[in-house]
Amino acid sequence: MSYNPRYEDGDWKAECDLCGKLFKASRLRKRWDGYKVCPSDWEIRQPQDFVKAKADIQVPKWTRPEMENTFITIPGYDDWLNPWGITWGLTWARTWGYS
Ligand SMILES: [Zn+2]
Repeated sequence: MSYNPRYEDGDWKAECDLCGKLFKASRLRKRWDGYKVCPSDWEIRQPQDFVKAKADIQVPKWTRPEMENTFITIPGYDDWLNPWGITWGLTWARTWGYS
């Protein structure tokens, strides 16, 4: 039932914010989003709006700084061939036809 143009003491005509039909102001209700709406447009707020996710704390309970590197000296290491250098060298040589 929309607007009935008869006098009611203390009431006035008002428009539904959604459908735009005229109603008596006493029939409109304020919705959760602030709109004044007619009974057919009134609805509760979606309950999923209030779902709160559990906090996903990804920080470890305790940490410590990374240890400093410890360098050791191996006598005669400079005379050894670096395995990584050998691999790279062979790959390069095969690619360019030097092997
Ligand atoms: Zn309406």
